[in-house]
Amino acid sequence: MVREISVAHLQRKLTALLSEAAYRLPDDYLKALQEAHRREAAVLGRDIITLLLDNAALAEAERLPTCQDTGMAIIFLEVGQDVHFVGGDLHAALNEAVREAYRPLRKSVIDDPIRRQNTGDNTPPIVHWEIVPGHHVRVRVLLKGFGAEMMSRLAMLPPAAGLEGVKRFVVETVEQAGPNACPPVIVGVGLGGSFDTVGLLAKKALLRPLGTSNPEPHLAALEQELLEAVNALGIGPQGFGGTVTALAVHVEAAPTHIAALPVAVNLNCSAPRRAEVLL
Ligand code: SF4
Repeated sequence: MVREISVAHLQRKLTALLSEAAYRLPDDYLKALQEAHRREAAVLGRDIITLLLDNAALAEAERLPTCQDTGMAIIFLEVGQDVHFVGGDLHAALNEAVREAYRPLRKSVIDDPIRRQNTGDNTPPIVHWEIVPGHHVRVRVLLKGFGAEMMSRLAMLPPAAGLEGVKRFVVETVEQAGPNACPPVIVGVGLGGSFDTVGLLAKKALLRPLGTSNPEPHLAALEQELLEAVNALGIGPQGFGGTVTALAVHVEAAPTHIAALPVAVNLNCSAPRRAEVLL
């Protein structure tokens, strides 16, 4: 049976979700940050993590953005194949939700990468659609700061590069990012697919709550190994040195072609704003 969902309902939910993400960092992230405070060996590193925790608490209490860069809205919609959106233009509603949620926030989106005129309302968002079985809609958002986004990288490695090539690329990416990605970072790694999808896999890896592992044992082991390698770099919180450079490495993989080993690394910073709702 087809389930009708009004576009106005989606718009209201999305506006609330974007606001929640802007002012309140996820519980799993705050828990991971508290654990990192216990693990961090450097005194300055621990002080910085304390500041990050205080900043998060203040932002939530005072309804202030957790960072001055309030990011670009990335919206993931999993739409059940039995859903029918009614009552208006879907894309206009997504834009309106972003416009409304960003009214009190910094506007960072420009209309064209060359002319660089600010759109004035943080639209348009980046939207990823996926059709799934059922009659629900899962909406997930990331408010992506571009300090970390700028330091993300993609490579079409030759298959002979193998697992060692992948590990080298991931660790080098975090090393090159240094303080610019505002560590402690969360490292999203995409493996496989094609040129256009491997970056999306890396971004989707950032949606996964901290404290979870890839269900495939060999990829879970890779996540752990990469986390240890990245933390051995000694970049530390905000790049001042220390043992906690990353809180987690999440790997997402997909089938690919025999001739390639695509790898993408999407970094998230110490303001990993994400939220989700099921309609
Ligand atoms: S990278 Fe993240 S923490 Fe750093 S300035 Fe941008 S949004 Fe803020």
